[in-house]
Amino acid sequence: MDAGHFDADVIVIGGGPGGSAAAITCAARGLRVRLLERDSFPADRPGETLHPGVETVLAQLGVADRLAAVVGSRHAGIRIRWNDASRFEPYGQDAAGPWHGCQVWRADFDALLLGRARELGARVFQPCAAREVLMENGRIAGVLTDEGPMSAPMVVDASGRAHWLGAKLRMERSVHSPSLVARYGYATGSLPDLDVAPLLVGDSSGWLWTALVRPGVYQWTRVVLDGTKHAADWRPDEFRGLVSLGSPRGADVTWRLAGKTAGPGWFMVGDAAAVLDPTSAKGILKALLSGIITGKLVASATTGTALLEEVADIYNQWLSGWFANDARHLAAFYQSLGIAGFGSHAS
Ligand SMILES: Cc1cc2nc3c(=O)[nH]c(=O)nc-3n(C[C@H](O)[C@H](O)[C@H](O)COP(=O)(O)OP(=O)(O)OC[C@H]3O[C@@H](n4cnc5c(N)ncnc54)[C@H](O)[C@@H]3O)c2cc1C
Repeated sequence: MDAGHFDADVIVIGGGPGGSAAAITCAARGLRVRLLERDSFPADRPGETLHPGVETVLAQLGVADRLAAVVGSRHAGIRIRWNDASRFEPYGQDAAGPWHGCQVWRADFDALLLGRARELGARVFQPCAAREVLMENGRIAGVLTDEGPMSAPMVVDASGRAHWLGAKLRMERSVHSPSLVARYGYATGSLPDLDVAPLLVGDSSGWLWTALVRPGVYQWTRVVLDGTKHAADWRPDEFRGLVSLGSPRGADVTWRLAGKTAGPGWFMVGDAAAVLDPTSAKGILKALLSGIITGKLVASATTGTALLEEVADIYNQWLSGWFANDARHLAAFYQSLGIAGFGSHAS
């Protein structure tokens, strides 16, 4: 591979919110971007509840005015029932009134962001998976893909929980919680109680999140904390009268952080870099923000206004600090509910 003739300035692996945010930010700065997404869209993904803060971030990506087209419902906060104590936790408010979070259908949301990346000139290869890392003189120099080798001096791993680059580089991840698996599913019908706001119900045995995603479609997520095994077709009682959309699915949501989230010529964004369980309700926000910051750092390094090692250090510090802070708050939340095993892991 001739170092002077790269196919692109940056290759982004994954077309979820993190990958699209990185691609949009790089393309908007004039970089030649290639984005690889292994699945055809629309693809089913969990993660529909967006914190109100997401709207400011979407404005930076140039899609705030298109959000309404993919919003299924809005809510002013979350209803929480823990150990039989109920409360409503509002998102907050300002002079204009209460802030509203929203529910989006991920297939539409992801397609909206990927469309914006295309609009700004990013070349999207889909379906096209990253297969191997290409190295040159001990440095990452591109990716072997389903469509052949592609060279670039920068690679952004936005492959989500697949943690593709970390797995290829055999990079350790630190674990910060007990093993946590989220089971989740969707159903159509009517649950008027959920139409107002999502509901989080829990006790020391685990928690259940239920929400309206879009008119007539509801989602549930269950995380068991006491080791109880549920049958593969388990679903919440209130969902039994509804028509299931597919079978329940599972996802490993154990809190984990990559040993390094950036190095000279590579970055990890979103879930590829760090995972917390969905009670944090910030997975999408973090994917977008880490994608934007990565895009800015890649642009600075590419245009020579910052050194590769410097930008990697800045990013590592920022992401690990953010993760530690969120993990501490989440551990304190679980501890306050008398749930054992949180806060005693690596930090
Ligand atoms: C049950 C559950 C509920 C959740 N609820 C919420 C919620 O309500 N709100 C919230 O903010 N977050 C929620 N989350 C978290 C949220 O889903 C993630 O944090 C978010 O999707 C991370 O975005 P991402 O772009 O990093 O990764 P992803 O959205 O996972 O995107 C990764 C992309 O990479 C692609 N890919 C993977 N490997 C390759 C490869 N080798 N080559 C090419 N492409 C590849 C995948 O196909 C995928 O499109 C939830 C998570 C779970 C498990």
